[in-house]
Amino acid sequence: MEAKIKAFMDEVTTRNGHEPEFIQAVHEVAETVIPYIAKHDIYNGKNILLRMVEPERLISFRVSWVDDNGEIHVNRGYRVQMNSAIGPYKGGLRFHPTVNASILKFLAFEQVFKNSLTTLPMGGGKGGSDFDPKGKSDDEVMRFCHAFMTELCRHIGPNTDVPAGDIGVGAREIGFLFGMYKKIRNEFTGVLTGKGLSWGGSLIRPEATGYGTVYFAQSMMQTQGKDFSGKNVVISGSGNVAQFAAEKALQLGAKVLTLSDSEGFIHDKDGINEEKLAFVMDLKNNKRGRISEYVEKYKSATFHKGERPWGVACDVALPCATQNELNGEEAKTLIKNGCICVAEGANMPSMPEAIYEFHDAKILFAPGKASNAGGVATSGLEMSQNSLRISWTRAEVDDRLKGIMEDIHDSCIQYGKDEDGYCNYVKGANIAGFVKVADAMLAQGV
Ligand code: GLU
Repeated sequence: MEAKIKAFMDEVTTRNGHEPEFIQAVHEVAETVIPYIAKHDIYNGKNILLRMVEPERLISFRVSWVDDNGEIHVNRGYRVQMNSAIGPYKGGLRFHPTVNASILKFLAFEQVFKNSLTTLPMGGGKGGSDFDPKGKSDDEVMRFCHAFMTELCRHIGPNTDVPAGDIGVGAREIGFLFGMYKKIRNEFTGVLTGKGLSWGGSLIRPEATGYGTVYFAQSMMQTQGKDFSGKNVVISGSGNVAQFAAEKALQLGAKVLTLSDSEGFIHDKDGINEEKLAFVMDLKNNKRGRISEYVEKYKSATFHKGERPWGVACDVALPCATQNELNGEEAKTLIKNGCICVAEGANMPSMPEAIYEFHDAKILFAPGKASNAGGVATSGLEMSQNSLRISWTRAEVDDRLKGIMEDIHDSCIQYGKDEDGYCNYVKGANIAGFVKVADAMLAQGV
């Protein structure tokens, strides 16, 4: 088996050698899916995984825009249309200086499996730009978004490809993008998700990724007769996902100890309660401030510049910031300090060595493609509401989200439980996600 995986990865590396994040994501899938393919005749000899690894389409385009001083800037825009076997391409847009083809291909590849796991009819895609919204005025962000959509609009549509937000793309950006799409195409459709409530958005969509991550972690802990009540929770990030993961963990009776951003993390030994979380939400969403400002207001907290929060002792860790933010040594520290459950709110935040440590110690570990699927699942519910031209209530959407997260958990158990009873959620998520897409691809022919 090792030889088969190696031969496959050699081929992937030859084609994509300059794309480390993409190769990392493919390797994690290959390790679990290739042994499964070998045992199932219908998938054998069809080169099915190699077909999945090659994007159906990769679009790259120039985005020029004018800043407030009249200077002209050029950024690169992308859309990776990875797989449309089970539905229109679906996945977020990321605006961040680190964005490149490798990052977007890894995210689009993960998205294919994640979207399949949601049970909703969505293919996988991802896009974005190396544009940095940080420090830009609202007008500059608007001009960039309008320029970006002027090109992207010809490649997307409510039955073709439905983008949403990701890092650097929130309600403000989705609004500007939607405005330009509507102007050019003269149609009001569900072409983007994460829209504002008064113009086609869904209740619970902003909360969904964070809430879903906590629902998933709750299901994991329930397999051991445990729950969030009284648990110490360490969270990285302070954006949309981290904020609502913290909110739901608090609602379930946990104590949230940390939040972070790219400059460092805050550790509040008394816990970040609802009032303090409201301060963070206002700071981050409205004032676009830094998390370090928290310690000026709340003296129970300390700021740790340039550090990540994984050294703080906890029962549950929720990495909700970005890819490769938790390494093997940090995983060992978490385990040594008594952590029993890690659920990823971000995409691929744990490095391969960290995942190895979690599995070796047999603690509960959920990969983002399973535990953070609540965001895109609720995007799928937004698409359904747009098609039906109705809006569901908060309770209706939340119930559906909970149900979907429970179903994803069941699928992971079905495909990931080993003989000794330990569930390898990485294996479970990869195989469950693969089977549905592979079956559709086989049915549709080469
Ligand atoms: N960017 C989110 C993710 O990583 C959501 C994508 C969507 O809603 O389409 O899943």
